[in-house]
Amino acid sequence: MGVFGLLRKLLPYVLPYRWLLLAALLLTALGAVMSQVNAIVLDRAVDAINGLLHIEGGFEWGRAARLLLIVSSVLIGKEILAAVITFGQRIFGEKIRINVSRDFSLRVVDRILSFRMAFFSSEGNEAGKVQTRIDRGVMSLSNTVKNFFIDILPLFTSAIMALALMFAANIYVGMVALAIIPVYFWITARQGVRMKGWRRRVFGTHQALNHGIMNILESMNVIKSFNRERVEADRQAALQDDSTVQQMQTRRISFLFEGLKSFVEQIGTVLIIILTAYLVLIDYPGMSIGKIMYHVLLFSNVSAPIRQLHRIYDDLNDALIYAEGFFGLLEADEEVEPSGQYKSEMVKGRFELRNVDFTYPSGTHAIDNLSMTIEPGKTTALVGLSGAGKSTIVNLLDKFYSPDSGSVTLDGVNLKEWDTASLRDNIGLVLQKNHIFSGTIEENIRYGKPTATRQEVEQAARQAYIYDQIVALPDGFESQALNLSGGQQQRIAIARMFLKNPPIIFLDEPTASLDAIATEQIKNSIDAIKQGRTVVIISHNIGQIIDSDEIYVLDKGRVVQHGTPDDVYHQGGLYKQIFDASARSMNADKIASVLS
Ligand code: ADP
Repeated sequence: MGVFGLLRKLLPYVLPYRWLLLAALLLTALGAVMSQVNAIVLDRAVDAINGLLHIEGGFEWGRAARLLLIVSSVLIGKEILAAVITFGQRIFGEKIRINVSRDFSLRVVDRILSFRMAFFSSEGNEAGKVQTRIDRGVMSLSNTVKNFFIDILPLFTSAIMALALMFAANIYVGMVALAIIPVYFWITARQGVRMKGWRRRVFGTHQALNHGIMNILESMNVIKSFNRERVEADRQAALQDDSTVQQMQTRRISFLFEGLKSFVEQIGTVLIIILTAYLVLIDYPGMSIGKIMYHVLLFSNVSAPIRQLHRIYDDLNDALIYAEGFFGLLEADEEVEPSGQYKSEMVKGRFELRNVDFTYPSGTHAIDNLSMTIEPGKTTALVGLSGAGKSTIVNLLDKFYSPDSGSVTLDGVNLKEWDTASLRDNIGLVLQKNHIFSGTIEENIRYGKPTATRQEVEQAARQAYIYDQIVALPDGFESQALNLSGGQQQRIAIARMFLKNPPIIFLDEPTASLDAIATEQIKNSIDAIKQGRTVVIISHNIGQIIDSDEIYVLDKGRVVQHGTPDDVYHQGGLYKQIFDASARSMNADKIASVLS
């Protein structure tokens, strides 16, 4: 993407603020005029003072005082006006920047929320990376807007105006001023090239340092238990050493080039003084002693924006880099979750998978020519070793992913044709991993049905056997949900599903992190909610599996056994192996003898 490509992409975001923009530009033009006032006033003042000195009959204090009064009033008046203009121009510019930045953030969040799950499990789209792309993108793009409208434009307008005044006063002086500009640009470009590699390295090391500290904080217990404090400190020290060298190097280059630019600027000023003085001395038409001051001041207006060029050049380079990743997100139409039109108020809950093949974006072939039927109103257990594809089936049934080939239907309608939101309205999902948000317990349960009354929330908590524990907390339902234990959080998630009250329920190891008492309580509440609903349960808990109406045993993405728990057990095979191993690991014989 080039600079113009970038500006074209930014334009739609700036256009809604066109009136603000117009006001900013108007003030910019006024500000540019104001910056030339000093030069004009001093030119006139020097000539007038010179005139006073050479008046016939001697110098009069009265006239001098009047002149100084006029000069100081104009300069102070101009300064007040310029302050107001600069303030207005900056405020308008900032308002544009802040609004554009907000619009970018809102738009990108909207987009991300609309993406299908496959996007998030693709390589390069890990949460941290996407977040960096968003943060950097929003920051550097809104900076570009700011640079352009608040920094560059006023300076360049003022520079062009100053240059025009110099040319108008004298073409030779104008040409000297103009000749310095390419030299400046050349130095800035060289500086950009020299700094580029270093800036990237500094940025990379900075990221590594941050990441390293995060790692230390997150793994503190591991570091301490293995006595690896020294190793971690040394690792940070090595990175810090790199960072020090890199920072010094960038500073060195930067100071060198800044010095060079100041030097060239001074050379320009000296040349202008010499040329103007020469023209004054040879009595060149239109040249008076005041013009020396006039040209020097105008020339400093010409060189002012060029002094900033380097910073703007760097920012623009960053923006070009980050814009690609950022607009990549905004324009990734192919990632938007597909949705059909079909909706149903009366979902029965009969799922059919026919010859389904599915591969994750990472390339893992998780489901292999699989067919199964999930009967409505019944509980179907998916059984198999870790990695067999059980969770993947739930992902397919919830339309988080679409099969590579084959079909998945609900009540005879292909999931592709289902309105995605309507489909998910009918499904309750409880996963093995925590899915508790930062917020109160009540907010977390209410997520299942935002319109629920407090009584309904409490009722759901009772059904999930968590009510008593919640009210025993100092802040009750207002406590932070993230402070709860894993098992308690799991029951908050189950309460949320009770509140949603969907006809179809997927439970992916719902009791994996619970203690024995809680497991039993959850089992009871699941038994209660199962009535009249379609339930798909994934569990390693044999007690839960044998309670299901039907089981599918999976291995390497295929169905290897299917039937009622009893039938499948008597078939032998993988299920029997899992069942027997589970009974042995529980020490079932001894348990039985203790109980008898
Ligand atoms: P199970 O639930 O039976 O333990 P999964 O359905 O989670 O198994 O996983 C099936 C296979 O797919 C495994 O090889 C697993 O590594 C892979 N897998 C699961 N989720 C993802 C994902 N988001 N991206 C890539 N591969 C995945």
